[in-house]
Amino acid sequence: MVQKNLEEVRQRIEAACRRVQRDPKEVTLVAVSKTKPISMLQEAYDGGARDFGENKVQELCEKSNLLPGDIRWHMIGHLQRNKVKQVLPHTVLIHSVDSLRLAEQIETEAAKLGMTKDILLEVNVAEEESKYGFHLDETQSAIEKIAAFPHLKIKGLMTIAPFVENPEENRPVFKKLYEFYVDMGRKNIDNVSMSVLSMGMTGDFEVAIEEGATLVRVGTGIFGTRYKIGESEG
Ligand SMILES: *Cc1c(COP(=O)(O)O)cnc(C)c1O
Repeated sequence: MVQKNLEEVRQRIEAACRRVQRDPKEVTLVAVSKTKPISMLQEAYDGGARDFGENKVQELCEKSNLLPGDIRWHMIGHLQRNKVKQVLPHTVLIHSVDSLRLAEQIETEAAKLGMTKDILLEVNVAEEESKYGFHLDETQSAIEKIAAFPHLKIKGLMTIAPFVENPEENRPVFKKLYEFYVDMGRKNIDNVSMSVLSMGMTGDFEVAIEEGATLVRVGTGIFGTRYKIGESEG
């Protein structure tokens, strides 16, 4: 089932790319495996998946210890500062940098480990009260400050769009973040590369791709529905 779903999602990604004359190679599919058992992740791996997303530090670390070493683990959930140290060695990209204090903590811990960590800044484009992330109007200033941290490398932006019935409702959200992403890229800020735009989930990844996403995070569409526990906190 997992491999069939994975293949279907890939085909939908390709079709979305074709509609807007984009090369499907520009879009990374991250299989969001939170709450799902190792056996299902292994199935996805056997189906060719190499990028996995988790939203809880402990779960990400445990799974990364049990699965093949060539998997790229993405931390996509809200990250508590006291868990930064633990997650750093296990993840290639932290999508959910949502405050300067968190960035400072990652900088400190990455320095201790002698590594540079790739990060995305999470942007709360729709300014939903319930969500983490910088508001758009504060994101440039955050980028400029974080760019000065020697052990962090800003690779781009991430957003979690609102939960909507019709994915078209999120098109303006994706469009807005894409425009900002292109703008920031043109500024050529030292130590910042705008090369990853992480947006789109099971319900809206095709619209996100049409609007410029370079990475989509798909859970339910690959692994099936989840129980409600473990949805947001890291
Ligand atoms: C759970 C989650 C996803 C995947 O959601 P689906 O709707 O199951 O595809 C994507 N991004 C983040 C940040 C998540 O927490």
